[in-house]
Amino acid sequence: MIAVVKQTATEEQLAHFISWIEDRGFKTHVSKGDNETIVGIIGDTTQIDPFLLESMSIIERVQRVSEPFKKANRKFHPEDTVVDCGHGVLIGGGNFQVMAGPCSVEGDNLLQIAKAAKAAGATMLRGGAYKPRTSPYAFQGMGAHGLDLLLEAGAQLDMPVVSEVMDPRDVQLFVDKGIDVMQIGTRNAQNFNLLKEVGKTRTPVLLKRALSGTIDELLMAAEYVMSEGNPNVILCERGIRTFETRTRNTFDVNAIPVLKHLSHLPVVGDPSHATGYTRYVRAAAYAATAAGADGLEIEVHNRPSEAFSDGAQALTPTQFADAMRRIALIREAVTADLPEDEE
Ligand code: PEP
Ligand code: MN
Repeated sequence: MIAVVKQTATEEQLAHFISWIEDRGFKTHVSKGDNETIVGIIGDTTQIDPFLLESMSIIERVQRVSEPFKKANRKFHPEDTVVDCGHGVLIGGGNFQVMAGPCSVEGDNLLQIAKAAKAAGATMLRGGAYKPRTSPYAFQGMGAHGLDLLLEAGAQLDMPVVSEVMDPRDVQLFVDKGIDVMQIGTRNAQNFNLLKEVGKTRTPVLLKRALSGTIDELLMAAEYVMSEGNPNVILCERGIRTFETRTRNTFDVNAIPVLKHLSHLPVVGDPSHATGYTRYVRAAAYAATAAGADGLEIEVHNRPSEAFSDGAQALTPTQFADAMRRIALIREAVTADLPEDEE
């Protein structure tokens, strides 16, 4: 971290600032130029609040040189992380997986949807049993019984299951039941107590980007999970809130290569929540695949018009199967080993 000191600062003020920093266990390196004095602050500067420094009268501005996320940072862990989701399904490091299923677990139709999704090539089964709904009057999910239905379908089809955990008090239940991947939803992306709680387990965590969250905030949320000891984090771009109203969210396709550049963690795209409308989901899924995602999460329903939640963005099994064939072709193009261009 570097602090640029105002030209008007006196030697005494500068010395006072340096001892304030050093008293906190950091080393400093002062470089005096013709126009400005720069104090380099050396040590674990994640402990320093840059805004506090900037609020000091002699400080012009403060700049971080290294990112505040360490465990999620590719700089300190250059190889891709491969997360083992159970049932022999690996994601990351060249392993591409598609998680598909209904928004909510609703009952017996789950197995039918799961079978169709698997036949089309999905490798993981998703379904919410605890639903974060905007309205308290909307369907809130089947709860623990929904987890059981999901697990039964997963066991029957030999597929790992993904389900959202909303409350730190439910984390142990998810672990005890053997949910393979715990999803942290958009609305809980900065629920730090929940992030810490899933961090204390070894269950893989599918971490979604907050509604208006920056890429750095997503990486700091991953850092929360990892700093508690759980290295099995999968990042998910699911669209962000912008001024655009034609789609439910705005799919930030850029975030996929940016996250892969900054972090070694696998990155998944969720074209369903990113667009909000069935008619756009496939295009966004192709874009995410082409952008280098390690996987996709797609909502599929046998009768979208009767879905308990998010029917407007569900693909039918037929649409999903069509999408999967094209996704496979795009994956081929993205991962092809092409000869170098000749000069
Ligand atoms: C979901 O996956 O059904 C869900 C609620 O996702 P998000 O948190 O991205 O809105
Ligand atoms: Mn949904």
